[in-house]
Amino acid sequence: MRPTPLPKKTKATKRALLVVNPKARRGGETIAPALDVLKASGIEVVDMTAGKDQPIDELIRKQATGCDLVIVGGGDGTLNAAAPALVDLKLPLGVLPLGTANDFARTVGIPPDPVKAAEVIAQGLLTPIDLGEVNGHLFFNVASIGFSAELAADLSDKAKKRWGKLGYGIVAARLLARSRLFSAHLDHDGTTEKIRTLQISVGNGKHYGGGMTVEETATADDGRLDFYSLEVDHWWRLLALLPSLRRGTQGRWDDVRAFQTTEVTVRTSRPRPVNTDGELCTTTPAHFRIRPKALSVFVPKRK
Ligand SMILES: [Mg+2]
Repeated sequence: MRPTPLPKKTKATKRALLVVNPKARRGGETIAPALDVLKASGIEVVDMTAGKDQPIDELIRKQATGCDLVIVGGGDGTLNAAAPALVDLKLPLGVLPLGTANDFARTVGIPPDPVKAAEVIAQGLLTPIDLGEVNGHLFFNVASIGFSAELAADLSDKAKKRWGKLGYGIVAARLLARSRLFSAHLDHDGTTEKIRTLQISVGNGKHYGGGMTVEETATADDGRLDFYSLEVDHWWRLLALLPSLRRGTQGRWDDVRAFQTTEVTVRTSRPRPVNTDGELCTTTPAHFRIRPKALSVFVPKRK
């Protein structure tokens, strides 16, 4: 008996689980044109979007069976929420930047336009990236203790438009007025240091807070965390520092402690909240570590 020939496959088909956070800033926008790009490139999209109350991590674990990749539509908070499932299932991540700031997308060069971001996924170039971890919570960009996260949250787009760069100064001064320096112990690289600080940041990637930079040379695949602590004693020093905080050159200032490491613990006399990419997720004592090459992400081809 002659075997029936298998149908000829013209294009390799990949299955992608699509998870969009409807609460993301642009989560309600139509992403149909982006989906068309994916479909045209031979990616079959399993759409799990819309009004689900199920945590995104749980959703991925339940629905990703048989999928070759997961596409997450949302901002940095959505990516952080998806990270544990992606790491455990070892599934590559495609990013549709639908959040307000999309700092991780910026760090790895994924364009803000969802159609162009879909083209990046369609091209199929994967690169391993690191994740940061604090007390078991994964993050893509930055974890902060103290005021900088508050600064980002307070600086609405409206304020940005109205005040421009001056807005940062006004908001920062206001925040500083209600902030106080706090004492912390740092354990890292075999040493313990006691510091007085306004804010501590531990970065995995480069960008955060929609316009701030952890360190100008940081990348999300260099296997290191970039630590900095603002140890200013006058509010006007902070104003002077703001342009550097945007560029990621603050480490050059005398009143900024900056170093690179793979693991650091921050201890404070009373528990202080830790903010990962805009969400409070744990408190001190905070144990930070790098998770090298924890995840593969579709990234643009280098020009
Ligand atoms: Mg890094």
